[in-house]
Amino acid sequence: MPAKPQDLVRPEVLAIKAYHVAESEGLVKLDAMENPFALPERLRDELAQALARVELNRYPDPSGRKLRELIARKMLVPQGMEVLLGNGSDDLIQIVTLALARPGATMMYPAPTFVMYGMNANLTGMKAVAVPLRADFSLDAEAFVARMKEERPALVFIAYPNNPTGVLYREEDVLAILRAAQGVVVLDEAYHVFAQRSFMPRLAEFPNLIVMRTVSKLGLAGVRLGYMAGRPEWIAEFNKVRQAYNVNVLTQAAASFVLERLEVLEEQAERIRAERGKLGAALAATPGVQTYPSEANFFLIRVADADRTFAGLLRQGVLVRNLHGGHPLLANCLRVTVGTSEENRILLAALREAL
Ligand code: PMP
Repeated sequence: MPAKPQDLVRPEVLAIKAYHVAESEGLVKLDAMENPFALPERLRDELAQALARVELNRYPDPSGRKLRELIARKMLVPQGMEVLLGNGSDDLIQIVTLALARPGATMMYPAPTFVMYGMNANLTGMKAVAVPLRADFSLDAEAFVARMKEERPALVFIAYPNNPTGVLYREEDVLAILRAAQGVVVLDEAYHVFAQRSFMPRLAEFPNLIVMRTVSKLGLAGVRLGYMAGRPEWIAEFNKVRQAYNVNVLTQAAASFVLERLEVLEEQAERIRAERGKLGAALAATPGVQTYPSEANFFLIRVADADRTFAGLLRQGVLVRNLHGGHPLLANCLRVTVGTSEENRILLAALREAL
């Protein structure tokens, strides 16, 4: 008799759920922290020409050397540090985890946070230790460091600012963790353009610090490109785990083209930050909505009944993320991405109806 999946698939894989992405066609899409602005028309035409010259019949440059050099220059990676590229930062999270998942090794992270850290721990058989944030979503560095002393984690993930809360932890708290860590600490700065704070300039101070970023939130989510910077000794090991051609020719070409013109995306990020201010004030003034301060391009809000509000928004054509049930601290929470002023207006009107 042929075997069934549950007879052959590793128990770790059977136990995890596939990463859920909601159907969004025709909806005002405020669920995934995308930049709502397209590239200017003139640049799109130029980009089309640049992509037309790409040799699709050839394998990509395996390590994306030119793109790595461009990123090092544009993103102010300190001298002496190496850069590794990923097919999105999701790929990099997996690479680091796979490399460090010795039998019995532990991963730690404050929680709630980006679910991919825990998913990768489970997938690779690492022990996942989630240390709860305080009720206001601030980081309890003392509790975290105390737990680190017990668990001796090989790997710590800190999203800075955090997803899904939007909170940027106090620099002192992150430093306390960096100073206490024996293993690798990955600071995931996916939202750094919105927070405008970074540990990139301080890489040299901490031998086991890795700064991870993505171009997704900056405006290139569809391109799939993440990067991380750290000491060459670490990057050399992570590089062995990377699939040989993990960043394809179109991604390398498109990202190079746009990052050469980084100011275009930075100007869009500035507009998003301005919209964030307006949306945050409007949400805070909406009765029945508890709003948490955010340094990212989204807000975490708490309502009386998240399932009902989520469904009411959807009926009005607005897609947000329902976080209810994901973590005890996220009871009745929704996460809403900052959109264009028009999208935010639609969201606010729909929210008043849906509460
Ligand atoms: N890190 C954090 C904190 C995120 O929120 C996300 C996306 N939601 C990612 C990493 C993954 O980003 P990507 O794979 O698009 O680079």
